[in-house]
Amino acid sequence: MIEQQIKSAIRDIHDFPKPGIIFKDITPILKDPVLCDAISTAFLDKIKDMQIDAVAGIESRGFLFGLTMATKLGVPFIPVRKAGKLPYSVNQKIYELEYGTATIEIHTDAFEPGNRILIHDDLLATGGTVTATSELIKEMGGHVAGFSFVVGLSFLKGLEKISAISDNIVVLAD
Ligand code: 5GP
Repeated sequence: MIEQQIKSAIRDIHDFPKPGIIFKDITPILKDPVLCDAISTAFLDKIKDMQIDAVAGIESRGFLFGLTMATKLGVPFIPVRKAGKLPYSVNQKIYELEYGTATIEIHTDAFEPGNRILIHDDLLATGGTVTATSELIKEMGGHVAGFSFVVGLSFLKGLEKISAISDNIVVLAD
């Protein structure tokens, strides 16, 4: 039900951001507050047994439902951002992309060592971004409680990659 509603709302944008790429645009979901509420409720139901101390959302679309979940759970939200965007002192992780590298950062005081953290993003593709986030969280003394995504692109094998990190993986639509 929710899966079908998400799939109907998402639109394919051809050749964005580069020629040859079909980008899944989730912004139509944001125009529908009833669907947004249903997505938040579905996430909360599926993550309720993960004993989450904080939710880490990945810039920028991971902030949307990530903050909603954290607020409803009554736990802190951790923004995971690209290099140079966070104003306070940071820990960072450099990771490989298909061409080149990318860097993600988390504030040094974003969570306490030993916290169980849910990593959230809008979409799982290769799993590279959330794997790098997991590594950074572990280096900072946190535990990865699980992952959540609105959409998972199953043909890109991201699920296989991250299942080595945690069994708790929530994907609302694939
Ligand atoms: P991965 O690291 O899993 O290969 O890529 C996932 C990251 O890229 C996420 O932060 C996600 O927001 C972004 N991303 C990659 N492809 C798409 C897409 O088609 N649609 C959306 N909405 N985000 C994408």
